[in-house]
Amino acid sequence: MPYRELYNRYMESAIRGRYLTLNNILPLLKEHSTTARVILIGESVNGLPLLAYQIGNGTVKILMWSQMHGNESTGTKALFDLFNLLGDDSELSRALTSRFTFCIVPMLNPDGALAYTRENANGIDLNRDFHNLTQPESKALTEIFEQFEPDYCYNIHDQRTIFGVGNPPNPATLSFLAPAFNQARDINACRQKAVDVIVAMNRALQGLMPGHIGRFDDTFNINCVGDNFQFRGVPTILIEAGHYPQDYDREQTRFYFFASLIAGFMFLIENDIVVNAIDEYLNIPQNKVVFFDFVYRNVNINYDGIEKITNFAAQYKEELVGDSLQLNAYIVEVGALQDHLGHIELDGHGKPFDNNGMSFPEIGQKANFSIGNDVKIVNGLKKM
Ligand SMILES: [Zn+2]
Repeated sequence: MPYRELYNRYMESAIRGRYLTLNNILPLLKEHSTTARVILIGESVNGLPLLAYQIGNGTVKILMWSQMHGNESTGTKALFDLFNLLGDDSELSRALTSRFTFCIVPMLNPDGALAYTRENANGIDLNRDFHNLTQPESKALTEIFEQFEPDYCYNIHDQRTIFGVGNPPNPATLSFLAPAFNQARDINACRQKAVDVIVAMNRALQGLMPGHIGRFDDTFNINCVGDNFQFRGVPTILIEAGHYPQDYDREQTRFYFFASLIAGFMFLIENDIVVNAIDEYLNIPQNKVVFFDFVYRNVNINYDGIEKITNFAAQYKEELVGDSLQLNAYIVEVGALQDHLGHIELDGHGKPFDNNGMSFPEIGQKANFSIGNDVKIVNGLKKM
């Protein structure tokens, strides 16, 4: 499948970066309403519309949702790339819309998207609300789940830059999970179907970005939407968009995300039998917490008159200032850090730390400092 070519053709150029709100996608949904059905499935806490995009008349029904966590927008971007494909009149779009009926909620938590928070406007993590259903957003998704009766669900998220896979680790650019349906984490026929789709996605992605694909932890929690829907007998696939080197806007990851969707659909169309899928699934390396955005090594610090050579790390915080998102780096850990890597690493060669006369890094301080006379760090990065 010519993924790159398809992506270049269908990429929705009106949206990019990390901060994606309902205002960004409403005009796009309006355009798509000429080829697809856009329906209202509910309202957010603050009264914003919860919208679903529906297209196709195939027998296999796929329900997808993104931005249940408001600050997790990579999958949403890839969904709009997909909408451009599905709304086109091409052989591929006809194959997809004749095999599948799609119901896709691109932004389940528009209040959180606007505020750039994980939680909804009541401060609730919607992905812990699927047993009790206390929030309008979780109720709306459950209602559409019950009405639409999907054959597959796709639960779309972003993960932090801290996750890596393999040894030596690469950033976990995409991670997958076929959620458990019980505490024992058994595999039944339903979970097996989700595993099969993930294996097909992983095969395609390994060809595009070898060693950047991870498998997420499968501890069972009935409050989580994926576990809940899997428990209710619908194969559910969790996709976590993550970091790709130097891609803090997640525009590269967006491409891989788009490719994984197409790979999964093609697998379902072709109806291939996967041999030993469970083994292949379990062979996808598990996500591990292994990265910081920045690691500085071999820096001389002086704390209370005691000098030593140490390492320390900084991490970006995503901070919404007005209506623009800023990445601000803060120092988060000081120590040996032998089990950690930085997406960016810098060797201080034993030269002294200085931050306006302070001779050691403090947790929580902004990552603005110097090492020796000639290395100046501003917002985590070496100033050239
Ligand atoms: Zn999430």
